[in-house]
Amino acid sequence: MERKRVVIIGGGYAGVQALKILATSEICDVVLIDQHPYHYLQTEAYELIANECSMTRVTIDLVALCMSYGEHVSYIKDTVRDIDFDSKHVLGQNSGHSYDYLLMCTGSRTAYNAGIKGLREYSHGVKTLPSALAFKQQFEQRLYQRMESEGGWCSEPFNVLIGGGGLSGVEIAAEMAHYIRLFHKDNTLTCDNIHIFLIIPHESVLDGMDPYLITQATKRLLKLGVKIINHSRITSVQEHTLILNEAEKICFDFMIFTGGMVASTLTAGLDTLKNKKSQLIVDEYLRICRYDGVFAAGDIAELRDKKGKILPPTAQSAKQSGIYAANNILASCQGEAMSVTDIQIRGMMIALGGNYTSVSLFGWIKISGIAGYVIKTIIMRGYRYLLHIQCTKGVNQMAKSRRHCPF
Ligand SMILES: Cc1cc2nc3c(=O)[nH]c(=O)nc-3n(C[C@H](O)[C@H](O)[C@H](O)COP(=O)(O)OP(=O)(O)OC[C@H]3O[C@@H](n4cnc5c(N)ncnc54)[C@H](O)[C@@H]3O)c2cc1C
Repeated sequence: MERKRVVIIGGGYAGVQALKILATSEICDVVLIDQHPYHYLQTEAYELIANECSMTRVTIDLVALCMSYGEHVSYIKDTVRDIDFDSKHVLGQNSGHSYDYLLMCTGSRTAYNAGIKGLREYSHGVKTLPSALAFKQQFEQRLYQRMESEGGWCSEPFNVLIGGGGLSGVEIAAEMAHYIRLFHKDNTLTCDNIHIFLIIPHESVLDGMDPYLITQATKRLLKLGVKIINHSRITSVQEHTLILNEAEKICFDFMIFTGGMVASTLTAGLDTLKNKKSQLIVDEYLRICRYDGVFAAGDIAELRDKKGKILPPTAQSAKQSGIYAANNILASCQGEAMSVTDIQIRGMMIALGGNYTSVSLFGWIKISGIAGYVIKTIIMRGYRYLLHIQCTKGVNQMAKSRRHCPF
């Protein structure tokens, strides 16, 4: 049987899971295209921001990963701009690639509401590694400048605003509050006038999630000193001032915005069905119906559970959809029946600062504190560790081929 050429765009949670399956099959050549040579572990971003870990702990090398699977798998560093579905051709900024099957996994980005003046300009995001790193560095610099200018005594408050009470907003608020506590305690600094505000549009944080997680997260945030401002709508942002509900002003030194998501920019120019968040509409096999051999997985697609309920964009649904899409591509290559997608959200784990995590799994495991932290750490590290082992094979492979190179 002639090998099929499968192009995966995006090496995030969905793309990497699909890669693992397609790369070990005997029937396809796989090309992974990503604008960055690493898989950014967004679910651990809060640790990076709070200085709990280094950059290497939140990245997986895509070059080494692809290399580890041998000659039928390759990585291309490029930003895909357009896709010609009729001629089955992917157009990148620097290269073009033909495919028999295409899997789109380019994820999502923060939804900066265009109606909110100054939001994009004056707030930071954490959705990408460069933005998380820039945030971390600038935050510390700003804090340092403040200490320096006030002789170590922050008489004026130092306000950090976090917009959005979803998973990432809550995790970042808790981790920063914890970090600031440690920063103050470890250094016995006089500058303790630092405040964290979490601005949320709803009654409570984590709107729509398990009530156990909502209660635990709220308690923990309040204990860490985070001020939750609920029922609040950001109307505009100026350089150091946030306007809430058209009238109320809050001065800030630093602002992070995490509220909402839209699909990656790639979907904008594509002639396909999309929802309000620009996510691609897929069928039960994760295919883009109008075009032959085209699939989508992860945040870029509107994913549903078996009952047809739209799933929130999470790493666990991205990973499961990547696996379904890859298996369906293999089934299609071999003329076999494809499987109907059955993504299951098995639970949620919310990191709430330091060694404290709230976990709700399988509907009956509900744990908070260090035990929750251990569960989350094992699951996250397990994911990273297995990929790291695979990458090591790729690095050894690279070293071997360099030894045989006459130049
Ligand atoms: C701070 C934070 C905390 C989170 N915590 C959790 C959590 O605890 N649990 C959970 O389940 N989920 C969590 N999430 C959500 C989760 O990270 C996302 O749902 C998940 O990353 C989606 O995976 P994906 O594969 O669809 O996209 P991504 O992981 O975003 O990967 C997309 C890939 O596509 C690449 N790409 C994008 N555009 C192009 C292009 N045009 N050309 C080439 N390459 C491109 C990107 O470089 C990237 O590598 C969190 C998110 C954030 C921001």
